[in-house]
Amino acid sequence: MKSSLVILYHREPYDEIVENGQIRYLPKKSPNGIVPTLKSFFADENNQGTWIAWKQVNAKQRNKFVKNIVVEDDGNYQVSRIPLSADQVKHFYHITSKEAFWPILHSFPYHFTSESSDWDNFIEINRLFAEAACEEASDDALIWVHDYNLWLAPHFIRQKKPNVRIAFFHHTPFPSVDVFNILPWREAIVDSLLCCDVVGFHIPRYSENFVNVVRSLRAVEIVETQKVSGHLTPVGIALAEPEVTTKLKYKNQIVKIDAFPVGTNPKNILEVLHSPEAEARIKEIKESLHERKLIIAAGRIDYVKGNKEKLEAFGRLLERRPDLHGKVNFVMTCVQAAPGMRVYKAAQNEIEQLVGKINGRFAQLDWTPVKLYTQPIPLLDLFCYYKAADICWTTPLRDGLNLVAKEYIVAHEGKDGVLVLSEFVGAATELPQAILTNPYSVKLMDEAIDKALDMSPEEQQEKMAIMYETVTIYDVKYWADRLLNYFENMTHEVLEDKERILN
Ligand code: UDP
Repeated sequence: MKSSLVILYHREPYDEIVENGQIRYLPKKSPNGIVPTLKSFFADENNQGTWIAWKQVNAKQRNKFVKNIVVEDDGNYQVSRIPLSADQVKHFYHITSKEAFWPILHSFPYHFTSESSDWDNFIEINRLFAEAACEEASDDALIWVHDYNLWLAPHFIRQKKPNVRIAFFHHTPFPSVDVFNILPWREAIVDSLLCCDVVGFHIPRYSENFVNVVRSLRAVEIVETQKVSGHLTPVGIALAEPEVTTKLKYKNQIVKIDAFPVGTNPKNILEVLHSPEAEARIKEIKESLHERKLIIAAGRIDYVKGNKEKLEAFGRLLERRPDLHGKVNFVMTCVQAAPGMRVYKAAQNEIEQLVGKINGRFAQLDWTPVKLYTQPIPLLDLFCYYKAADICWTTPLRDGLNLVAKEYIVAHEGKDGVLVLSEFVGAATELPQAILTNPYSVKLMDEAIDKALDMSPEEQQEKMAIMYETVTIYDVKYWADRLLNYFENMTHEVLEDKERILN
């Protein structure tokens, strides 16, 4: 049976374990992240779905590779895997994606290198993804492509299946036209995205950036715009956008543009936090603090995350405020990138050196100011740190959305806590009640952390209550339901639009 929904996402949606020499494919243990949400789109029992992902294999494994698998007890879909060699993965994922696209997407052009990129390999892998999707998709299926790694897939899909509906979602920021157009392959990328029926982003700024890129390269017409409304800030902050383009016309095709931020899963987070195990862990963390304030920062080792700038700000804080010595702990989880990602080596060295410098300068026998984890900490521990923390300090230089901010808000259930948030993350447009700061400014970073440390319990409660309402209303289920509705209506709208243009 052909699939009516095909999702292309680079990660596999299951845990693979070997038991008595047999491989078993089990539903992912972690309830966190976007994968469980995407899988929920396969809930309709009357429709078969397919998830396409890549799988690294060696020559021996390739000979007996089983392409399509079914995850045990996990709904109404199969997984179609694309076998890639270690070398293909390295060039596709670790080099071309992370050394060429990532810095451009996050507006760090000086980290961009095109010489090391393997564009032909990128084209080939995108073609393989598109081929696998077309093999499984019915002629009128919805094919939903995720993220910049698969920018070229829509082009190949449209060639093979002219009548399918293609949706694309960017999980990253989308940069301004001046930065995006640095990419030497910009036309191919834009032409492929213009093969979609809808191109999605987290926030209006990113979609407007995309529209400006398209307008600079191709003769498109803006067919429809809308005022930004609802919970998204239309004016007054760095990523605010008052108006968005919602429809473009290009060569008699309508391309819809959608901007809506992904949410988190408050139900899961609170279920974890209300368990006896978590309650005991929170108590343990609080006892170990001995009344000291706790600041938490969670994220990956990545220059875009502004870890260096945050540590420098913490060093300055201890320098100018001796009253805080022995009174505040900073826990930073900075998860190491996959091995072989050479771009992150320098970032990790820098962080480790800075932590050593701060602890060396300020530590006392019974107080180590910064605690750094470079290995992922269990989800339960992370959520307990959120709950125990007086302040969440999340100030990336650039971030598509930043789920950590939303998770911290949920953990405090609108009662207390302070969120210091970078203006340059997508979530800032939803959370103007946070202490918004500019991580590029030493002065503004210092002011923000001072303000956070001084905030009264009343003000904390007032701000967190509003933000808690926002993240619980606009949770991941809201995002998924809204898109399901959007996709259902998309067929008609596109047909009507096409008919209108043809007439
Ligand atoms: N996270 C985690 N363990 C850690 C640090 C972070 O599981 O030690 C999770 C965190 O709960 C969040 C995700 O990683 O869901 C990070 O998402 P975010 O949008 O903040 O940043 P991204 O890594 O996607 O750029």
